[in-house]
Amino acid sequence: MDLYEHQARALFQEYGIVVPRAEVTDSPKEAREIARRLGGRVVVKAQVKTGGRGKAGGVRLAADPADAELTARRILGMDIKGHTVGTVMVAEPVGIEREFYVSYVLDRAAGRFLAIASAEGGTEIEEVAAVRPEAVARVPIDPAEGVTSSKAGEIAEAAGLPPQTVDVLVRLWEVLVREDAVLVEVNPLVRTEQGHILALDGKVTLDDNARFRQARWGAQDAEHDDPLEAEAAAKGLNYVRLDGEVGIIGNGAGLVMSTLDVVAGCGARPANFLDIGGGASAQIMADGLSVILSDPSVKSVFVNVFGGITACDAVADGIVQALDAVQLTKPLVVRLDGNNAPRGRALLEERAHPYVQQISTMDGAARRAAELAAAD
Ligand code: GDP
Ligand code: MN
Repeated sequence: MDLYEHQARALFQEYGIVVPRAEVTDSPKEAREIARRLGGRVVVKAQVKTGGRGKAGGVRLAADPADAELTARRILGMDIKGHTVGTVMVAEPVGIEREFYVSYVLDRAAGRFLAIASAEGGTEIEEVAAVRPEAVARVPIDPAEGVTSSKAGEIAEAAGLPPQTVDVLVRLWEVLVREDAVLVEVNPLVRTEQGHILALDGKVTLDDNARFRQARWGAQDAEHDDPLEAEAAAKGLNYVRLDGEVGIIGNGAGLVMSTLDVVAGCGARPANFLDIGGGASAQIMADGLSVILSDPSVKSVFVNVFGGITACDAVADGIVQALDAVQLTKPLVVRLDGNNAPRGRALLEERAHPYVQQISTMDGAARRAAELAAAD
C-alpha cells in the first residue's frame, strides 16, 4: 500500500527527519485559516498517490491566506493521472538552495534493498537516469548490516550529497525497516538557504504482507489505489491492473503469469492480471469481463483456460452465460484446452458470438489477441 505524502511525512517526523510545518484539509476556507497560522505565504499541495503533481499543477505557491483559499479551490477536485484530489496539504514554504534525491527500494531481482541517490533531485529520477546515468548512484545494502553511519556516508559520497545528509539517510533506513516498507523515497530532499536539510516530499510503500503487524494503517485495509482494482476487489476477483492493451483472463496464477509473458512475447502489452481460479462460474467470468472491459486502454481480451478439475465445458458454459450478462465491446479470443476441451469449444461455437473467436493453442491465441489490439 502506498501512503499519501502527508502520511509519509508524519512517519519521517517520528523518526526525527525534519519536514516543513503543514496541515491537511479538504476545505478551501480551512486552507485560508491554515495559511494564516503558518504565516501567510504557503505551498498548497494536492494529496494523491501518484508522482508528478508539480508538473500537473498540483503544487502551487500562494502569496497570502486569501490566495491559499483560491489555490486550494483550484487544486481540490483536480484530476492528476486518474486520481481525483480530495485533500490538500498546506505547507510553510521553504527557501531551497539545493534539491537532492534519495530512496531505498527493494531490488527484487537481487533479493536486497538498494539505495538510489542523486545530487540532482527535484525532477523525476527516471529522467535524470536517462539523460545522465552517472549522476544517479546505486548502492546495494547488505540486509544484515543495514544503513549504518558509515554506509550512509558511502551512499552520500557516491551520489555527491553533502555530509549533512548522512543522518537523514540513516533515519530513512530506520523508517523502512521498522515500518515494513518496500520503498521510501524523498524527492526532493533539500538544503535550505539557512543550511538545514528538510524532506520536502515523501513517498512510502508499505509491504502488504506485513500489514498484520502495522496496526495503525488497519482502517485503510479496503483501500485500493486504482479504482478498477477496488471494484475487482469488491467482487472478490484476483485482479491487478497493468498498463497494456490486451485484457487477460485465465485460471490459475501460474497460467495467468505465463499468459502475460506470452502476450508480451507477441509484442503486445497485457492490460491486467486476472486469475479466476478453479471455479470459473458464469458470475466470476461476467464480473471479470466487466472489470476488464471498463478499462479504456483494453483493445482485445484473451481468455486462456486449461481445464483441470474444472472441465472446459463448465468454463465455456460460464463464458456463454457471461456473454448474455455483459455487453461485449471488444474482440475476445478464447483458448480452451485440457479436460473436456472439445465439448467446451463446441459450446462456444454454438453460441456464435460475432466478437468471440477460438484458437486452440496458447501461442496462436496470444498472437491473435495481440494483432486485434494492434489493429484497433
Ligand atoms: P511531486 O511533483 O509530486 O514530486 O511534488 P513535490 O512535492 O516534489 O513538489 C514538486 C516541486 O515543487 C519540488 O521539486 C520543489 O521544487 C517544489 N516545491 C515544493 N515545495 C516547495 C517549497 O516549499 N518551496 C519551494 N521553493 N519549492 C517547493
Ligand atoms: Mn516530489
